[in-house]
Amino acid sequence: MNASPVIRKTRADLQVVPNFSDYDAEQRRFSWDAAARELAKEPGGGINIAFQAVDRHCVAGLRDKPALRFLARGAAARSISYGELAALTNRFCNALRCLGIGKGDRVFILAARIPELYIALLGSLKNGAVVSPLFSAFGPEPIATRVNLGAASVLVTTDTLFARKIAQWRDSMPGLKHVLLVADDGGTTAVPGTLDFATLMASAAQTCTYEATSAEDMALLHFTSGTTGTPKGAVHVHGAAVTHWVTGRYALDLHPDDLYWCTADPGWVTGTSYGVIAPLLHGVTSVVDREEFDAERWYSILQDEGVSVWYTAPTAIRMLMRAGADIAKRYTFAHLRFVASVGEPLNPEAVWWGKDVLGLPIHDNWWQTETGGIMIANTPAFDIKPGSMGRPLPGVEAAIVRRRDDGTVQIVSEPGTQGELALKRGWPSMFRGYLGNEERYRKCFAGDWYLTGDLALRDADGYYWFVGRADDVIKSAGHLIGPFEVESALMEHPAVAEAAVIGKPDPVVGETIKAFVSLNRGFEPDETLRMTLLGHARKRLGAAVAPKEIAFVAQLPHTRSGKIMRRLLKARELGQAEGDTSTLEAGS
Ligand code: AMP
Repeated sequence: MNASPVIRKTRADLQVVPNFSDYDAEQRRFSWDAAARELAKEPGGGINIAFQAVDRHCVAGLRDKPALRFLARGAAARSISYGELAALTNRFCNALRCLGIGKGDRVFILAARIPELYIALLGSLKNGAVVSPLFSAFGPEPIATRVNLGAASVLVTTDTLFARKIAQWRDSMPGLKHVLLVADDGGTTAVPGTLDFATLMASAAQTCTYEATSAEDMALLHFTSGTTGTPKGAVHVHGAAVTHWVTGRYALDLHPDDLYWCTADPGWVTGTSYGVIAPLLHGVTSVVDREEFDAERWYSILQDEGVSVWYTAPTAIRMLMRAGADIAKRYTFAHLRFVASVGEPLNPEAVWWGKDVLGLPIHDNWWQTETGGIMIANTPAFDIKPGSMGRPLPGVEAAIVRRRDDGTVQIVSEPGTQGELALKRGWPSMFRGYLGNEERYRKCFAGDWYLTGDLALRDADGYYWFVGRADDVIKSAGHLIGPFEVESALMEHPAVAEAAVIGKPDPVVGETIKAFVSLNRGFEPDETLRMTLLGHARKRLGAAVAPKEIAFVAQLPHTRSGKIMRRLLKARELGQAEGDTSTLEAGS
């Protein structure tokens, strides 16, 4: 636990009355059933995320209010009102129906943060189809893996991304029935074997009856990574909207007049849950910027768009810190009243930097793909202990546990003791499975406790502190990367006999990916081969997932049962003690 002083909150820190101001009373009062009743009733008593996020507001007088405001370099901003969004998503829902796509079919989307991504996502949910937005910086291999694992019937992408990442690999995705292309120049496309998005939308009807889905119907598929095996498709249901509604209120403190900006890409769970669903559920206006990080651009968006609530990530904050306070001083953030961050540890300096430079501390919060929504958070009314993730939100029961050999867990009640972070099942956005992998899902639970795979501790005031991951997954720039996927891509190269990948601490992006590679006979470990392998990995995996460094080794360390000991490679890389090496194979 960090000894950094506490940031005390007073009334003067609050520009609006916070949604969450009495921790104990709200915890006692809260029930998920009551929260679900706050959303609009739907025919048949079910719940559909898109209806709740969009159409509900049109009957409640918000038809003309901007829902999403799209910014892109060199183009005028485009605002889409709740009414327009309802009509556009109706069209997409109908377009899918015309293609024979309906409830339970899988629609994958690979696109930058363009309007069509949001229209396709919400339109698919109206259709009852299951959506999986993919990160547009992925290379062909991660895309094909996910499309195949998720049994996608439809892929929505742009003509440029199609040419670069799909066309050549289309045969490796035999289950895909339709590829819908958005023309990057705003016109139409005519690529053999694909359909034009704009033409389909123009010919589809603007009104539709959305599919009546139940709270337990599958809505979204988010891929996440483990240490071994292929990515895991975490299944999320329509009922998750209740968590997004509640956490939008408590953790993001959304108020109707907010101008909200979530910088996450919908290709990752934060960008979908909090870049699309939660703000729309609250009927607020969201800014969506198509461009990648640029300090000046980001400050000018905060200033010129009048952003009031900003949800971003530690890597981005550290990049702003590195760009220097001088740049920030050229801007004013008159409307900004709450800043939150998620995805990786937020160092105390970054929390204080926010206070100094933006005039507001950064509020760290914690959750993961499997939880579907924010679970632990710092919120506007409560003191911040910089370096801590905050406290569990109402409706969330968290604990620090220790796994026993018999599969049960022991709850660690002494404050300050490290263990695994666990959550009591029962919140609506909890994942309902890993697609096609029941056993892996079962292993995440001990009785009623969901085991997060994160090591943490709780202090005497109930604040949670992140300690590290219990496994070998890597967090780079907020993206969870499974070593196996990277190693597999490297091993496809004829020179590589074996590969092991670790996360190497980095002051800005948290961890960078370093690969250790042993070579097949006949290949020389020289600079030319290193560059070739770096290029190979980048082409297959995309820049966000590819290793930044490759080291050649004669042999990788293995356990006697044949598993690569990444932990040992990491300890050696960082000059740390090697720990227990009793299972190490001789000669490793
Ligand atoms: P993902 O499923 O990609 O969202 O990644 C979830 C993982 O990111 C968690 O299990 C943590 O390891 C890490 N993470 C998320 N939020 C935080 C946070 N506030 N502090 C530290 N680690 C975090």
